[in-house]
Amino acid sequence: MATYECEKCGMSVNATCGKCDAPLANDTLTLDGGAEVQISKCPNGHGKIKSPMCCGQDMSCSV
Ligand SMILES: [Zn+2]
Ligand SMILES: [Zn+2]
Repeated sequence: MATYECEKCGMSVNATCGKCDAPLANDTLTLDGGAEVQISKCPNGHGKIKSPMCCGQDMSCSV
């Protein structure tokens, strides 16, 4: 199960694909400006979302 956890307050969320129920894989996306954004993507190609944030920072994936 892919679980994102906030390092500050300990809140956690489970991220799965809405179409195939697969745990989302952790990945990074490089923006045009060169900044890296942490994202979660479906391993079966159904799309990707930005990683959940909490306490002003990206939640880390503890798979
Ligand atoms: Zn938090
Ligand atoms: Zn999927």
